[in-house]
Amino acid sequence: MSDKTVITCAVTGAETTRLDNPNLPLTPGEIAVAARDACRAGAAVLHLHVRDPQGNPTQDPETFRTVMEMVRAECDMVIEVTTGGAVGMSAAERMAPLALSPEMASLDCGTVNFGEEYIVNTLPLMRVFAAAMKGHGVRPTLECFDLSHVDAAAVLIDEGLLEPPFHYGLVLGVPGGVRFDAATLEFFARRLPPGARWTAVGVGGRASWEAVRCAVEMGGFIRVGMEDNVYMEKGVKAGGNAEMVEKAARIAADAGLEPASPAEAREILAAVRSRGAESDGGK
Ligand code: ZN
Repeated sequence: MSDKTVITCAVTGAETTRLDNPNLPLTPGEIAVAARDACRAGAAVLHLHVRDPQGNPTQDPETFRTVMEMVRAECDMVIEVTTGGAVGMSAAERMAPLALSPEMASLDCGTVNFGEEYIVNTLPLMRVFAAAMKGHGVRPTLECFDLSHVDAAAVLIDEGLLEPPFHYGLVLGVPGGVRFDAATLEFFARRLPPGARWTAVGVGGRASWEAVRCAVEMGGFIRVGMEDNVYMEKGVKAGGNAEMVEKAARIAADAGLEPASPAEAREILAAVRSRGAESDGGK
């Protein structure tokens, strides 16, 4: 599958509002339809946040259960739940959806500024999250918002709390975090353990599309969606998540890459690559 790339779609997120983009999916039904359409457009992985009836972010497991069931009724996407949650949530709250044993979950690998706020991820907390994922059979995406987060993840790897195959989410462009540029992304990617897979996450209109182009060039995977960015291009708001996935798939196609189906993504993400095999598969 050397000509495949994995596209993740982050359809809702915790921070985006209808004021940012009126097409943002919020209710369980809207999220399920957005997932189905993103899947048809080429996304294999759904990065999932859910909202309460008021549209505020929640980690309520029952809401997650409802949304996950509705998504599964619509498509076979790999579901990656957030454990980042939203600013101000407790660790227990953030971890709650792991009890549903989703296929994947994000694991934040360090404390990070988040606009005027911050999200705390100490090493002891990361160990608790990693152990919970292991216990529930959940494959983590190691979200790194800073180079030190890559090294913090390495501590957990050394301790045996994380096991290969490793999949990282390299997140650039969060306000107050590391800014996006190609050289920084490339440096991050080079610091990952041999054989690791990674998905580029650019936050903000410019960073998001640049991250897609860079990921395609550098052998990483792609993430788009309204959690990260609500624009198709400068000044043009997206009509929906699927439109963004279509654009990402076109960028990949120009480089000779086809979007992996959910079944292919499962296979790719589950495969352990040996040292020195970094150039196969992703490029
Ligand atoms: Zn998220």
